[in-house]
Amino acid sequence: MRPDPTPSPSSPRFARVVLPIPVDQPFTYQIPDAMLGRVAIGCRVGVPFGKRALSGVVVDLLDHTDVPRTRAISEIEDVFAPPPLLELARWMASYYGCSRGEALQSVLPPSMRRAKVKAKPTGMLCVVDDALRRGGETSDTYAKAQASLARAKRQLALLTELVSAGGEAPVPVVLEEWGYAREVLDGLVARGIARIDPVDAASPLDSLEARVDWLNDEQKQALTLVTDALHSREFRPVLLYGVTGSGKTEVYLRAARHVVEEGGGCIVLVPEIGLLPQATARYRRAFGDLVAIIHSRLTGPERFDIWERIERGEHRVVVGPRSAVFSPVRDLRLIVVDEEQDESYKQDDKPRYHARSVALVRGKMEKLTVVLGSATPSAESLRWAREGKYALARLPKRVAGGVLPEIEIVDMREPDARGAVLSPRLSEHIEETLRADRQAIVFLNKRGHARTVQCLACGWVAMCKNCDVSLTFHRVDGRLKCHLCGYSRAVPASCDACNGRLLRYSGIGTQRVELELKSMFPGVGVLRMDADTTSGKDGHRRILEEFSTRQYPILLGTQMVTKGHHFPGVGLVGVVSAEEGLNFPDFRSPERTFQQLTQVAGRAGRADGAGRVVIQTYTPDHSVFRHLCAHDYDAFIAEELELRRRLGYPPFARIVLASCSSTNAELLSAFMENWAGRLRESLAGRGVAVLGPSPPLVPRVKNRFREQILLKGPVSQAHKDETLDAFRRLAENRRGASGIELRWDVDPESFFW
Ligand code: ADP
Ligand code: ZN
Ligand code: ZN
Repeated sequence: MRPDPTPSPSSPRFARVVLPIPVDQPFTYQIPDAMLGRVAIGCRVGVPFGKRALSGVVVDLLDHTDVPRTRAISEIEDVFAPPPLLELARWMASYYGCSRGEALQSVLPPSMRRAKVKAKPTGMLCVVDDALRRGGETSDTYAKAQASLARAKRQLALLTELVSAGGEAPVPVVLEEWGYAREVLDGLVARGIARIDPVDAASPLDSLEARVDWLNDEQKQALTLVTDALHSREFRPVLLYGVTGSGKTEVYLRAARHVVEEGGGCIVLVPEIGLLPQATARYRRAFGDLVAIIHSRLTGPERFDIWERIERGEHRVVVGPRSAVFSPVRDLRLIVVDEEQDESYKQDDKPRYHARSVALVRGKMEKLTVVLGSATPSAESLRWAREGKYALARLPKRVAGGVLPEIEIVDMREPDARGAVLSPRLSEHIEETLRADRQAIVFLNKRGHARTVQCLACGWVAMCKNCDVSLTFHRVDGRLKCHLCGYSRAVPASCDACNGRLLRYSGIGTQRVELELKSMFPGVGVLRMDADTTSGKDGHRRILEEFSTRQYPILLGTQMVTKGHHFPGVGLVGVVSAEEGLNFPDFRSPERTFQQLTQVAGRAGRADGAGRVVIQTYTPDHSVFRHLCAHDYDAFIAEELELRRRLGYPPFARIVLASCSSTNAELLSAFMENWAGRLRESLAGRGVAVLGPSPPLVPRVKNRFREQILLKGPVSQAHKDETLDAFRRLAENRRGASGIELRWDVDPESFFW
C-alpha cells in the first residue's frame, strides 16, 4: 500500500536515492519544503545529476546527513515500488551484478510523468447466431457466413477467431490483442453476424463461468497439490509436467480462481510468442476486468496505467511475458511460469535476469506458491523435481484423447536423399497429405546459419566488413546482409579473393525451401513465415490466421511456427535439416532441439485424424532422435543429466559468462589474460574453474573485438563479487582500458552473442 503520511515538522528532510547508473551507491538529496512528508521509501523521484535529470527510487529517508552540499529532489513521479519489490531489486542487483538503480529500471514501468491514457473501448463482441456459437466451424451457419464473407477476408478471419474463442470476446481484446481494425469489427456488426453487448462490470466473479465442468483425475490431483501449497502459506514450488493439450492451462485457471476467491492475487507468466489470442481469451473469459494482459505492443503510458491499476488492486490476475513477474499485485499468493523452459524468459540486456529464477526468489521472499508448467521441462527443473525440491504433478495424456503423432526419421546419408532439400520420403508424405485435403507444416531448424555466397574455386565466403560472420543472401532484394550489424552489399559478380566467376549459394534458407516446394507442387499455396515475412506490426498474426482459415495448404518457417496456435487441419509436420540446432556450440543444444522438435511435432494431428512427423537428418543415431521417436523425454533427460553431471554443467554447477569487447584487439587480449590470471589465482583453489580467455562464436561485431572468460563450478556470490572487483581494479589501473566494455551474464542461457 502506498503510504500517505501527514506532513509534520519532524518529517525526514533527506532521501537516499538509487539511480539507473552503474554505481551501486545511493545518492543523498534534500527534500524541499513543498514535498515534506510526501516522499516515501519506494517513491520514484526526479533528481538532478550532474547536468542531467534522472529518475531514481527512494530507498531510505534521513533526518540528517553528513553529505556537505546536497541538491534537491525536483519532482515526485507517479510510480511507487512496494517494499517487496525493492527487496527483489536488491537481490537482482547482487545476483546479476548490476546496481540497484539499474535493477529497478527493469522492475518498474517506464518513466511517464503524468501521461494521458485514452479512454478504452468497452463491450463484449458476441456472435449473434446460437447455432454458430455452439457448433463452431462445423455448423451450417458457419458455412453460410463464410460464403457471405467471401470478399471480406478480415471479417471472416475475425469471425473464425471469435467462434474458436467460444463465440465472444471483449472489444478491447479484439482491437488490441488480436489486432483487428475497428472497421472490421463494425463490419461484422453491420452485417448482423455479431453484436456488441455491454459488459456488466459489477461483479466479474459472479459471471465467472467455467467452460470445463469436471477435471480428470490427474488434473484434480495437480490442482489439489497446488491448493495445498497455497493453503500452507509457505514457499512451495510445484512442477506441472504435462504433454501439450493435457489440460495444464485449465489447472492454472482454477488455481488462479481459487486465489482470487480467497481475496488474493496471482501472476501468470507466458512466453512472449505464446501471447496469442486463444490463450489470453481464456483468462479474459474467466476473470473479466480483474485480469491485466501485458504484451509488448502496449505503449509506455498504457504500461504505466496498468501498473497503477494493479497496485490499486483493480487487476488481481496479471498475464504477461517475463517483465510481468515484477507486477505489484496486491496480496500476491501464486506465480505460474508456463512453458518454463522457454528461452524468452531470459532477458538479453543488463540485468540479464531469468524470469523463472526471479519468480522462485520472489516466491521465497513472499512465501508464495510457484507453479512451473511445461510439456518438456528444463533439465534443471526436472532435476529439482526428482530430488524432491519441487513437488511434481504429471498430466501424461491429452484431455481430448488422441494418439501422439508417429515420428519417422529420414537418414539423409542414404543415396536417394543425400544433398536434397526435401527427401523423396518427405515429398511423398506432403503429396499424400495434400491429396487427403489436410495441411502440412515444413519446419526449417536453423539457428545462426543461413545461405551465403561461396567461391567454388578458392572457397572464399562473402563476409561482413564489420563483423566476423558470413553475409546472408536475401532473395527479396537480391542483396547480401549481415544479421548482426545490418551491413549490406550487392551480390558480387566474381570472387573478391580470386576473381573467379563460379559463385554458389550454400546453406539452406527458407527461401530456398520455398522454391523447392513450389517447383515440386506447382500451383499449391505456400505460406512462408520467417524474420522477413513477419516484420510488420501484425505480420506474425496475419500469417497464422491465413493458415488457420485454410487459405494455404503449406506453412513453411523457422522457430516461429513451433508455438502457439492450434491448427486442426494439420496432418503432417516435416523437419528439414533437423541437426542444425545440434551443431550449435552450447551444452543445452540437445535439450533445446528435443524441446523444439516436440513442440513442432505437437502441431500434427491435434484434431481430425492421426498426425505424422517426418524428420530429415544426417545424424539419425543421435540420442535426441532415438528418444524422440519413442516420445521418451524422461529417458532423454536422464541421459543429459548424467552427461552434465560428469562434465560439470548446470544444474550441477553454476556458470558465469564474462565477455569483454574493445576496438583494440591487443589491448583487449592483454587485459583478458591479466584478468583471467588473477581469477585463477584467487578462485581455482576454491573449486571454480576459470576457462579462457577465448574468442566467442563471433569474435568481432561492429568493429569491436570480443573475448570471453567462463567461470564454472560452485560459483558463489563472493566469487562473483571478487571477479567484478578484479575487473574494476584492472580497468581503473590500465591505461586505455576504459574503452573495454563488460557484458556480464550470470546463468547464461545462450553462448551466442
Ligand atoms: P495445455 O495447457 O496442457 O496445453 P489446456 O488446458 O489448454 O492444455 O487443455 C487443452 C484443451 O482441453 C482445452 O481446449 C481445454 O479447454 C480442454 N480441457 C482441459 N481440461 C478439460 C477437462 N477436464 N474436460 C474437458 N476439456 C478440458
Ligand atoms: Zn575465389
Ligand atoms: Zn556486420
